[in-house]
Amino acid sequence: MINDTMKIPQATAKRLPLYYRFIQNLHASGKQRVSSAELSEAVKVDSATIRRDFSYFGALGKKGYGYNVNYLLTFFRKTLDQDELTKVALIGVGNLGTAFLNYNFLKNNNTKIQCAFDIAPEKKGKLIGDVPILPMDDMEEYISNENIPVAILTVPAPVAQMITDRLVKANVKGILNFTPARLNVPPSIRVHHIDLAVELQSLVYFLKHYPTQELEE
Ligand code: ATP
Repeated sequence: MINDTMKIPQATAKRLPLYYRFIQNLHASGKQRVSSAELSEAVKVDSATIRRDFSYFGALGKKGYGYNVNYLLTFFRKTLDQDELTKVALIGVGNLGTAFLNYNFLKNNNTKIQCAFDIAPEKKGKLIGDVPILPMDDMEEYISNENIPVAILTVPAPVAQMITDRLVKANVKGILNFTPARLNVPPSIRVHHIDLAVELQSLVYFLKHYPTQELEE
């Protein structure tokens, strides 16, 4: 990411893709400006948070005018590296992995799963979507030769750490971990963890125990 965005707080940075998607839609529909109230309604983030977030981007909305859509779009595209395609590798072509290979990430952001790896011999050499499934033995060499910075992990939990250690050696910078395993990585590697079962359970719990309460940010 570029230097002048380094000071953006992490919570703000996490909301960037959300803002970006909405601003893209506004731009496509020919809108020139947007108010923080409109943005707030669309992305379900309160308008005070939006104003604070946008002040980090140097986007200062004017009273009665709002924010300039073109400015925001240019900013987000540059900050999210949208002008550059980010290559992604996927490890573990089971049910979840297969769904990701068939999903077109390019529709909403500039990332592309370029290759997949699996240990099962019967999966080797297949194409899913347009993504080739390669043998695990080739993983480190392929990922490091192709300079692939991001990996999606959809293997069974017991092998997740072992594969993570191999990905670190192959020089990946970020891992999107869909396994329930908590991963240990060196400080220079970023792991985002999405445990679908935990998220679902947490939603069910909240529905049961806090059915009408306002959501906390
Ligand atoms: P499936 O029905 O295809 O087995 P699943 O999602 O239920 O899918 P999992 O047991 O979670 O199956 O495994 C996910 C994928 O990870 C499978 O395709 C499996 O072959 C692969 N896998 C398992 N162990 C390894 C490993 N050590 N290295 C790479 N891939 C692995």
